Amino acid sequence: MPKYYTLALGCQMNKLDAEKLDALLQEMGFEPTHKENEADLINVFACSVRQSAINRIDGRLKKWNKIRKQRPLTTVLTGCVLPKDKKELGKQFDILLDAHQMHTLPKLLKKRIQDIEDIFPESDYFKLPTKHKSPFQAFVTIQEGCNKFCRYCAVPYTRGREISRPASQIVEEVKDLVKKGYKEITLLGQTVNSYQNPEKGNIRTFADLINTLAKIDGNFWIRFISPYPTDFSDELIDVIATEKKICPHLHIPVQAGSDDMLKKMLRKYTREEYLDLIRKIRKQLPNVSITTDIIVGFCDETEENFKDTLDLYEKVKFDMTYTAQYSKRPGTQATKLFNDNIPQSEKKRREVELNDLVNKYSLVNNRKMLNKTVTVLVENTKKESLFGKTDTNKQILVKGGSKDLIGSFVSVKVTKALPWSLEGTLK
Ligand code: SF4
Repeated sequence: MPKYYTLALGCQMNKLDAEKLDALLQEMGFEPTHKENEADLINVFACSVRQSAINRIDGRLKKWNKIRKQRPLTTVLTGCVLPKDKKELGKQFDILLDAHQMHTLPKLLKKRIQDIEDIFPESDYFKLPTKHKSPFQAFVTIQEGCNKFCRYCAVPYTRGREISRPASQIVEEVKDLVKKGYKEITLLGQTVNSYQNPEKGNIRTFADLINTLAKIDGNFWIRFISPYPTDFSDELIDVIATEKKICPHLHIPVQAGSDDMLKKMLRKYTREEYLDLIRKIRKQLPNVSITTDIIVGFCDETEENFKDTLDLYEKVKFDMTYTAQYSKRPGTQATKLFNDNIPQSEKKRREVELNDLVNKYSLVNNRKMLNKTVTVLVENTKKESLFGKTDTNKQILVKGGSKDLIGSFVSVKVTKALPWSLEGTLK
């Protein structure tokens, strides 16, 4: 049996594509291995967005080239790869493949490795099955690529333009997962709520799609990441407020709280429009948890611009935030057009100041959960307790109960609130 080794760097999109590749290769008769030395096939999901990821691949190539001298080895480069990396790095691999062309891999491998089957002669990327790592949590791709062109981001150049997956395929996949006992299904797309069904029929928009998915029989949760603020329609808010299977947790990246910075980043909304959206959501979903992404120290960000971000933070009081100091990324418009002119020490100071607010409001919001009964999906055990997440996506440690409960929903009374998690007891 030929063996394969996969190195998946970067974000959730690459991780999910690596799970698709697992399913594809295992159906072709390959066996996974954690040891590069014994692999006949090495796959790399690159992340051109981070230079460190590209450097890491460069370093590993030396080792793989040594293996190649001793026995036959095929190497594949895919994932988020910028044109310049395709040129330079790509020539050191045997097969260079756009992620959405993964269904063509069997044919390409067949030319190099004998005794394997071309199992998907007429398939397409979206029809590829996925070998989910968890037996009760699954990611489902509904869209590939992005049309937004934020200036700090390389995704539209590495993954290409936005393509939505036919809704009939998504509905079938989710029905199948629910039938198999999956309890949490996360719909994935770069701007997931700009989804437009390419098929004719009743499902046209993202709101129509999750409305249909929420009506599938069974006890399961639906989540989605990441929505883009201007594509958040009133219909979508109505569906989330009505359908109990859709989790009341919304991760809505804002990136900055100053209009100058939003404009410079080419985000397509103003701070007031973002705040209006949050007000509208909270009016219909008073218990929703809202999380976000924020970049500090983007090109030319003044102290006043940064203060606007802090002010927006105080207004929204997010449940949690991923903060990042801006760093120049190859292949982005920001790198071509602007100077990365905020000193590192200043970026750090701003991030620390912002993180003080992040910690403060995370704790404030978590304290509101005290003594409430919440539903938790148990994911694992930790320190002799159960560990899981609430529908609002808060991490919680649960006292009592056995590991047989992993993968089930349980009712928990919240007894303690910490900045980054909750504690509770089984009811
Ligand atoms: S919305 Fe902006 S940040 Fe997100 S993937 Fe598209 S270009 Fe990148």
